[in-house]
Amino acid sequence: MKVALLLSGGMDSLSLAWWKRPDLAFTLNYGQLAAQAEIAASRAICERLKIPHQVVEIDCRDLGSGDMAGRNADGLAPASDWWPYRNQMLVTLAAMKAISYGVTHLWLGTVKSDAFHRDGSSEFMSAISHLLSLQEGGMVVEAPAIELSTAELVRVSGIPSGFLAWAHSCHKADVPCGNCRGCNKYFEVFEEVGYDLDRPG
Ligand SMILES: [Zn+2]
Repeated sequence: MKVALLLSGGMDSLSLAWWKRPDLAFTLNYGQLAAQAEIAASRAICERLKIPHQVVEIDCRDLGSGDMAGRNADGLAPASDWWPYRNQMLVTLAAMKAISYGVTHLWLGTVKSDAFHRDGSSEFMSAISHLLSLQEGGMVVEAPAIELSTAELVRVSGIPSGFLAWAHSCHKADVPCGNCRGCNKYFEVFEEVGYDLDRPG
């Protein structure tokens, strides 16, 4: 079994990396506005945990919508950060890279609240895992934290607040805008977990 984590540098995947220590991690620059900050946060946690880290660069911004692509969300969007087929795209791109590393299990940092988006649901994870299992390599897709809230994941992972503070959650920019769904979540989770942002963990 060789496990790769799809690491976005956000609180969920950062905590999952701390908790489960995957064999390697992939971060994708698919044209999202916050890519450089996500890569920096991912690289920092991987250096700390001594996890080999690969960045995959492929510009899909023309196919995106919403906050992460810097435009208004499509009319079908359930929220301003909706990017159509985003998890399907990320899983596919990561798996295309991961298969050359002999990866058998691809992990996503999806949590319970992500089910707000259909591609963050358990049904989606089962379906995309089945789809990959039909193909060469028989890779398995799993979301080990899908039953947990972000605060629960942070607590169970034991990640110190000083490392959690590295997380980049903003959907709109490399520097947190302070007013998007990602930024709001960042501050809510710190408050819920009871971590003090000013005090290193
Ligand atoms: Zn923001």
